[in-house]
Amino acid sequence: MDLGLRGRVAIVAAASKGLGKAVALGLAREGVRVALFSRDETQIKAAGDEIAADDVVRRAGGEVLPLLADVTHDEDLRRVVSATEQRWAQIDILFNNAGGPPPGYFEDFSDEDWSRAFELNLLSTVRLTRLVVSGMRERRWGRILNLTSTSVKQPIDNLLLSNAIRSGVAALGKTLANGVAADGVTVNTIAPGRIRTDRLEQVDRSTADKLGVSVDEVRRRSEALIPMGRYGRPEELAAAAVFLASEPAAYITGQIVVVDGGLVKSTA
Ligand code: NAD
Repeated sequence: MDLGLRGRVAIVAAASKGLGKAVALGLAREGVRVALFSRDETQIKAAGDEIAADDVVRRAGGEVLPLLADVTHDEDLRRVVSATEQRWAQIDILFNNAGGPPPGYFEDFSDEDWSRAFELNLLSTVRLTRLVVSGMRERRWGRILNLTSTSVKQPIDNLLLSNAIRSGVAALGKTLANGVAADGVTVNTIAPGRIRTDRLEQVDRSTADKLGVSVDEVRRRSEALIPMGRYGRPEELAAAAVFLASEPAAYITGQIVVVDGGLVKSTA
């Protein structure tokens, strides 16, 4: 299938490693010009170099622009958008992503923790989207992808902040999707289950500490709940994102696409 992405321009947030980096690579392998950013200059440059050196990326004509930025700083996001426009004139695809809020239960969090989680995962999505959506609407083509978690379908016990704030991101995506659909802009939410990254290690370690068992034991119990019997790979999540960003996905909007090996048991 021709995904029709060659020459398109994307911004991928929080992309020095994990899921963001996998999505940046997946897009670049389709010939997309990708601005990717995170908070650590050395790491984002290394990620950019790695993607630029990839054989498939080179053959497809993909390009990268690694940038230093924190999703919680509005001025950083403005700088990312203007640097991308300066380099490639327009933005066609936005992948909203950030680190996850800390794990914990209701009694663990102060107002400050709640505000930080709101800024990290919801306000950053609002701000970046605001900066790119009007240009997409004018050009009558755009793809906005918001990374959340299966917790928007089925809350996860020790991830209270993530459960609450990411549900807001999913609701934002659905509402915005209706408002911009007629202008050729789609907005979709991607909900990963358990995909093997540093973040998942952190969550498993926290669960192990709480339960007083080893991290291996947490992983074994966790994989036993997944019909596929294993954690996912970042490139399996990226494949869904690349398809949703593509030309053939033009009629898919306002959806929550779950990538979880069957973990969530609900049909809705
Ligand atoms: P990761 O820890 O492997 O990577 C996180 C990336 O985000 C890094 O590049 C980091 O530098 C960047 N980042 C963190 N805070 C940032 C900030 N303020 N500004 C800019 N960049 C920032 O994590 P991951 O597994 O790729 O997870 C990405 C998102 O998906 C997280 O929000 C995570 O909670 C969520 N998620 C992951 C899984 C999973 O199984 N991996 C499941 C559900 C949800």
